[in-house]
This record gives sequence, structure tokens and C-alpha cells, in this order.
Amino acid sequence: MKKDIERILIDEAVIQKRLDTMAKEIETDFPAGPIIAIVLLKGAFVFAADLLRRIPRELSIECLNVSSYHGGMESSGKVDFLDRHFPEVKGAHVLLLDDILDTGRTLAAVAKRLEEEGALAVHTGVLLAKDKKRAEEVEADYTGFEIGDEFVVGYGLDYKGKYRNLPYVGVLKLSAAN
Ligand code: 5GP
Ligand code: MG
Repeated sequence: MKKDIERILIDEAVIQKRLDTMAKEIETDFPAGPIIAIVLLKGAFVFAADLLRRIPRELSIECLNVSSYHGGMESSGKVDFLDRHFPEVKGAHVLLLDDILDTGRTLAAVAKRLEEEGALAVHTGVLLAKDKKRAEEVEADYTGFEIGDEFVVGYGLDYKGKYRNLPYVGVLKLSAAN
């Protein structure tokens, strides 16, 4: 697995330290009362697990399966909701978590849906945000790291289902992407 990585972009210790700060910000910003964290699968599961365990507040966790990449390196431009049921969010403060903000289509589509479902407020958090022009006008309220416009894997992010279990974020070798 490691042999397929061109270079490490953000190492494990740096990620963990940044999560301490993000968790404190979220903890301070969120009003009293219930929070529902919505975790976008599969990419955000590692980030969410590490972040949410740092927030000593009562909260519930729901997961949503959405798909926009369909396993490759290019966004398909269409966001599909893959679950049969949508979590109950009426009147709740929602913390929507995704792995990476790229075109912005995923975050925009899910935030819109959460609002339609009656969420009181939707706050968004991403581990990574690509520094580029987005197809949708959306930025996250909490961003771990801003990165260049290149394809990354690890710490939840995959290429064709692999590399999610790398503890760091790295750039894939071109030879491994086929
Ligand atoms: P967006 O809808 O903002 O274009 O893309 C968000 C989704 O695309 C992310 O949840 C993630 O699954 C996928 N994605 C975007 N950029 C990358 C990347 O560099 N690497 C990987 N593995 N997935 C990405
Ligand atoms: Mg994803």
C-alpha cells in the first residue's frame, strides 16, 4: 500500500493536532442542546471518528451514503442519495461532516436536503478543502487543511476502494492509478 504513495501530504501527528483545535472550535461555537452529526460515508468515517471523540457533548451520529465519484478520480457531477431512509433532523443543529470539499456539489446537495428535512441549522466540517473554483458556492464552516487541486488518498479517502486505512493523507503515484 505504502509503495503506491508518491508523497505524504499531511502526516498522522499533524492531522491529530489539527483535530484538537477543530473540536474545541466546534465545542465553543455550538449552542447548547442536541447536536446531530451527519457523517458522509464512506470517506468521512475516519475523520468523523477521530473528531467526534474529541467533542465532549451529548450528540447523536447518523451516517449517509452519498456517491459522487463512483470510484474514479473525477467527480461525476451528480450526487446520489443511496440510503432508503433519511435521518430525522427536524429542529436540530446538524454538524455535517465530509472528507473533502472539491467541486462542492456533495456538501451543497446534502446541506440543501438537510434544510428541506427541517434542520434548524446546518454547520459543515471537512478534513480537506481543495483550493480551486467550486461548481457550487459552498465553503465549510470548519476546514482541517486547505490543499492544492490534486487527487489524494488515505485517512478515509480511497482510490477504487483502497487506501482508506492509511493513517495519513498522501498523493497516489500515477503508476498506481490505473
Ligand atoms: P465534491 O462533491 O465536492 O466534488 O466532492 C466531494 C467528494 O468527492 C468527496 O466526498 C470525496 O469522496 C470525493 N473526492 C473529491 N476529491 C477527492 C480526492 O482528491 N481524493 C479522493 N479519494 N476523493 C475525492
Ligand atoms: Mg466521499
